[in-house]
Amino acid sequence: MKKIAIIGSGFSSLAASCYLAKAGYTVTVFEKNSEVGGRARQLKKEGFTFDMGPSWYWMPDIFEKFFADFGKKVTDYYNLDKLDPAYKVFFQDEQITIGDSLEKIMLEFERIESGSSVHLKKFIKKAERNYDIAINDVVLRPGLSPFELVTKDTVVRLDQFFKTISSEVRKKFKNPKLISLLEFPVLFLGAKPSKTPAFYSFMNFADFGLGTWHPKGGMYEIVKAMKALAEELGVKFQVNKAVQAINVQQGKTTGLTISNEVIESDIVISGADYHHSEQLLETKYRQYAETFWEKKTFAPSSLLFYIGFSKKLKNVEHHNLFFDTSFQSHAEEIYDHPKWPSEPLFYANFPSSTDPSMAPENCETGFFLIPIAPGLSDTKEVRQQYFDIIMARFEELTKQEVKNSIIFKESFCVNDFVKVYNSYKGNAYGMANTLSQTAFLRPRLKSKKVENLYFTGQLTVPGPGVPPALISGKLVSELVIKEFSS
Ligand SMILES: Cc1cc2nc3c(=O)[nH]c(=O)nc-3n(C[C@H](O)[C@H](O)[C@H](O)COP(=O)(O)OP(=O)(O)OC[C@H]3O[C@@H](n4cnc5c(N)ncnc54)[C@H](O)[C@@H]3O)c2cc1C
Repeated sequence: MKKIAIIGSGFSSLAASCYLAKAGYTVTVFEKNSEVGGRARQLKKEGFTFDMGPSWYWMPDIFEKFFADFGKKVTDYYNLDKLDPAYKVFFQDEQITIGDSLEKIMLEFERIESGSSVHLKKFIKKAERNYDIAINDVVLRPGLSPFELVTKDTVVRLDQFFKTISSEVRKKFKNPKLISLLEFPVLFLGAKPSKTPAFYSFMNFADFGLGTWHPKGGMYEIVKAMKALAEELGVKFQVNKAVQAINVQQGKTTGLTISNEVIESDIVISGADYHHSEQLLETKYRQYAETFWEKKTFAPSSLLFYIGFSKKLKNVEHHNLFFDTSFQSHAEEIYDHPKWPSEPLFYANFPSSTDPSMAPENCETGFFLIPIAPGLSDTKEVRQQYFDIIMARFEELTKQEVKNSIIFKESFCVNDFVKVYNSYKGNAYGMANTLSQTAFLRPRLKSKKVENLYFTGQLTVPGPGVPPALISGKLVSELVIKEFSS
């Protein structure tokens, strides 16, 4: 049977490895780091457990479908809790809590803007229909041709590809806080809401319709589950194996070079950042020039802090958004005039508030994230400066002292994203999903220049996020299976 070498062990690579092993290929995954999972790695220190990247478990149906493709269920590997509240949003003068059902959220909307709950119900109904079309059809197409986007359902919704989420939301909602709440979910797609097509309101259904979940033990449980499944199917994992080159002879890949050793393979799939993957090829075999990447809108990078607190924190939920400064200004400082934000919005996650297994007794595990433009200058001083800014705001808004209760603190930013994941400009979650960077307009799953070479992951289709990464791995494996079974 044909041998397949997969570069990297993020969700897309893990998914691809499972599908291809199931189809009978001999699959080996080569990961440069000492553990698998890519951006979803785990940090364990002094009894605290941190998910280093993703923390929002959205679209549970996609995980269920993934495991069902192998005759399994999510619960065969990990247990999920539906969070209630799903999250809390801190504004300057008040806090809004998002409950675990649309009914609860409608009540909260009505409290803030009279009449808004009726609009919300209609908005989410439309978002649900879009979710159905997007998740069960559009995102399952491999991005080979523009015609893939033309279906009976998308044709009648063509206007939603040319209007933006921002304009749609503003038609019915006037309160700036409600507008921020409805614009927040598309931030996961990596672009400004004013640049994201209205069709992507399906993210609002994911948020308010399907809810926010937590795998007991943390997001790394998904990685462990997928690795276990892959191993059950016969996939071999090799860690601490940084691929130096993708080898090509007469226009066809012959395998990889790792630690100056040649590893032969019939097919290569790279789940590492697309830009880096192409650097592993001789220039003549690269499909995209540097200028191509420079012109693209990348999803933000992030300044992250992993903090162990020696006490339980008050007035916080599992997920907390700090929207007490201007959403607009921060977005401009990420996308339009890249610079360190003057007044950053930030996100804080305390998984131990609902899952005691993630921190020592009477302690709290804290993860803080400030989204920033990729490629910014990242120094120790600037990290400390932003740490002080957000800690002061956090203490004021949650009405408690926390700085003196820090027993463990580690940061991660642009330079680490580059060093640890070979990320282009230190992006945190790939290339944004804008109209000009969607579907067939994204970097391709299959190389045009090298036979038997494929790509997967958040820079290709369908885009950023854990559920899309699972789908990306499935799409690339379907292409391989189709090509080599005939
Ligand atoms: C801080 C942060 C927060 C996020 N929050 C969420 C969230 O809440 N919910 C959500 O759904 N998504 C979230 N995301 C996005 C999500 O984590 C990613 O979209 C997804 O994990 C990407 O998976 P991937 O397979 O494309 O790539 P990656 O996870 O980047 O995997 C690529 C792998 O390739 C390896 N590699 C690179 N170069 C080489 C080489 N030369 N040789 C061998 N191996 C190599 C890397 O080490 C890495 O393991 C977040 C991401 C970050 C960073």
